[in-house]
Amino acid sequence: MPSSQQEKEKPKEVVRTFQSAKGMHDVLPSDEPYWEKIESVVRSLASAYGFSRIEPPVLEFAELYNKTSGEESDVVQKEMYTLKTKGGDFLALRPEYTPGISRAYMQHGLSRLGQPQKLFAMGPIFRHERPQLGRARQFTQIDFETLGGVNDPIYDAEIIALFYDLLNELRIKNSLVKVNSIGCRICRPIYKKQLTAYYKNHEKQLCEDCKRRLAVNPLKLLDCKEPGCEALKEKAPNFLDKLCVTCSAHFKSVLEYLDEVKIPYELDHRLVRGLDYYSRTVFEMYAEGNEAQIGALPAGGRYDYLMETIGGHLTPAVGGACGVERLIAVLRAKEIVFNGKSAKRVFLAHAGSLAKKKAFAILKDLRGRGFLVAESLSKDSLAAQLKVADREGIALALILGQKELYENSIIVRDLTNGLQEAVPLEKLVDEIKKRQK
Ligand SMILES: [Zn+2]
Ligand SMILES: [Zn+2]
Repeated sequence: MPSSQQEKEKPKEVVRTFQSAKGMHDVLPSDEPYWEKIESVVRSLASAYGFSRIEPPVLEFAELYNKTSGEESDVVQKEMYTLKTKGGDFLALRPEYTPGISRAYMQHGLSRLGQPQKLFAMGPIFRHERPQLGRARQFTQIDFETLGGVNDPIYDAEIIALFYDLLNELRIKNSLVKVNSIGCRICRPIYKKQLTAYYKNHEKQLCEDCKRRLAVNPLKLLDCKEPGCEALKEKAPNFLDKLCVTCSAHFKSVLEYLDEVKIPYELDHRLVRGLDYYSRTVFEMYAEGNEAQIGALPAGGRYDYLMETIGGHLTPAVGGACGVERLIAVLRAKEIVFNGKSAKRVFLAHAGSLAKKKAFAILKDLRGRGFLVAESLSKDSLAAQLKVADREGIALALILGQKELYENSIIVRDLTNGLQEAVPLEKLVDEIKKRQK
């Protein structure tokens, strides 16, 4: 402990007040109803579709992402947070889920279990990009992956259907589903050559990034949002005309399955996704109207070759991901609200210090029985306590006063209309249940 003398001599320093780092946001209590709803929809969809939870660590070897997402991808080149550990390992904060889940599938021999393995995850993702609406440096992703088994287009359609259901369950209706096929090892090189030839003829109009990317991966040019490059996309050769027979049949089949479950979609030959590992089906979904500016909601595709790039066998796989904060931004923009906990909460109030003691016991008992009970017991005034109940949107109040204390009863008041009655304490549990029905 410093002596008081030392304290006096300590030079005055300006105490810094902190803000969250750029692009990093707090999840606040006001967001809770959205998070609760989204988490519960994800869990119920996962069990309905037969997906089990997996959570790879947030930190992985950076090389895992170089090898899979692609060294030329924006995710790896510009957006990855990397660090060198004291032990000398070069690690990266997870910029997406797919490589980590694939690594875990291989490492733990999940390929020896029933195939395909259907896995889902939900957790933080980190990308160092320019923060804007719908784009933060830390955000949360919902991720669904189907790995292993045979390469059956029904699984592509299932992933798309699952995410379409996710949006519908959140009351984001009429979303736009864009699909495309980016072929396989046989047809893609041929298409790339045609694409390169096309862009070579228009090289002057390309942005600097694309001029460089043209030599490495011309497909990426279809993904560029720079105005000059955007204008060239329209007339670029269409991959759907150049698919090999197998890829063409695969894609046709995906579309037939989507038709079968009445999911409307739009073919978009410019849709390539920014990551190297995709093959064949790729998809993106957008909210309708202005909310589409927030960016793609669910997006993903097939990635049969990924496992080979990290030392495994050719493994058919398809998956997708959706940002939670982006979903919330769309829900807010569309003014879609969900009842949070308040719908099921009751409020316990007291009048007088004797009643306060007893109220504490009732509180513990009700919570032990699983009721959601709010209180503001530190306030003495009953009016002040009920104001809190009102502010939190709680409809049912339990009020314990001196009179009730002696009569072993409690007042149950409907805060929406002010009607109230005294209920014997031993009947309180039944009374709450009855009113919450
Ligand atoms: Zn092909
Ligand atoms: Zn460009």
